[in-house]
Amino acid sequence: MTEILDPFLPTAEQHAGAPEQPYMYLRTLLEEPDWTRFPGWADVTEEEWRSAQWQRAHCVKNPRQLRALMGDLLDDSVYQDLQDDHEQRATMSMLVPPQMLNTMLRGTEPAGPGSLTEAFYADPIRRYMLPVLSDRLEEWGSHPFASRDSLHEQAMWVAEGLTHRYPTKVLAELLSTCPQYCGHCTRMDLVGNSTPSVDKFKLVLKPVDRQAAHMAYLRTHPNVRDVVVSGGDVANLPWPRLESYLDELLDIDHIRDIRLATKALMGLPQHWLQEEVVAGMHRVAGKARARGVSLAIHTHVNSAASITPLVAEAVRAMFEAGVRDVRNQGVLMEGVNATPNDLLDLCFTLLDGAGIMPYYFYMCDMIPNAEHWRVSLERAQELQHAIMGYLPGFATPRIVCDVPFVGKRWVHQVHSYDRILGISQWTKNYRTGIEFADPHALERTYRYYDPIHTLPQEGQYWWRHHVESGELH
Ligand code: SF4
Repeated sequence: MTEILDPFLPTAEQHAGAPEQPYMYLRTLLEEPDWTRFPGWADVTEEEWRSAQWQRAHCVKNPRQLRALMGDLLDDSVYQDLQDDHEQRATMSMLVPPQMLNTMLRGTEPAGPGSLTEAFYADPIRRYMLPVLSDRLEEWGSHPFASRDSLHEQAMWVAEGLTHRYPTKVLAELLSTCPQYCGHCTRMDLVGNSTPSVDKFKLVLKPVDRQAAHMAYLRTHPNVRDVVVSGGDVANLPWPRLESYLDELLDIDHIRDIRLATKALMGLPQHWLQEEVVAGMHRVAGKARARGVSLAIHTHVNSAASITPLVAEAVRAMFEAGVRDVRNQGVLMEGVNATPNDLLDLCFTLLDGAGIMPYYFYMCDMIPNAEHWRVSLERAQELQHAIMGYLPGFATPRIVCDVPFVGKRWVHQVHSYDRILGISQWTKNYRTGIEFADPHALERTYRYYDPIHTLPQEGQYWWRHHVESGELH
């Protein structure tokens, strides 16, 4: 038989010499890491592991508890490094559920005292969930313009915990706790327990009064159609309270989108698999569907290693209960996910493994002591370019900068950018809730700042000089 060659296809020889793609996709199957590899969990049963109560009761809250779990697998200096961070720089207290801890140090083999120390320091989930003092920068550890509540959410409260920043949507903070605390939390002003460096702001209204105040505002503002129900993490609300809030929201005709914010879908999937929660979600999603309201979950996953079969099971349970979509809003962080491969691995694992839609990556906000996590705008733009074209268009996340007094802007929307000083200028096309009396709000530009240690020497010198001479304002 005569072989017919297609002149447009490369020959085998041409194929062999072809350069590889910058990113090579390979589907990976999810696996629950074996928790019994850690000495403190050697006898933990599957039944205990799947229990939300067991998970909550065994969270690691301090270096002593981490040592009890890890035995001698980490050098003693690690615990001191964690303790020093807590005492000197941490803006969040330590709280890591076993589920999340078990996704650290994946694929490592304990091999005697201290054998996991190096892997522990390098682990991307550890880097943001268990910060150590040696991670932080000595010079420029905080940007001169870093601040608590860097997005001014509280200034935009129209009722306690209800931020009205964008024209048609609001953020409802129903509580100030989470089942896990992330070192880089943007709401470090309010969320979690106070630390030696940060005395936290407190919600003061009773939950029932806060709910009443939110509903009163929403009922009388038909321009609001979208409510992000958040905190903290809604997984820390007793289910009846969350259901009551959602029920009331669903009775307001002009509310068309409701999104529930919960990192616990990944950090504590056991919560979302509880019978009471699944049955309750069925009721709420049924009511939403009957009224044509879109009910979605927004979660916060920063590393592919966090996605396990249990996370996928919890997501499936939510879809079966009637939730329309589960979307991921990760945070772009140095040492965690700020490479094209890390971002693409994460997005494909979310999508293929758990059915979670990659949606946004936020640039890390300008809170105190966060500079070792932050990346420059230029780097964020490069990363956005590098991840285009691999994922389906509908699942290609946008990398966004949450510009103070503006809101989320895609990184390529920048109006002007001084790369030497690391100062970018942004514009906006709507007034935030505190600018209705400001005739110039839409004419101004608003600033965002790159981490100073990433700037060229000339830029770093400028900042040093201006900080020392007190000329910054
Ligand atoms: S889960 Fe969200 S709100 Fe809670 S600590 Fe993490 S980033 Fe902050």
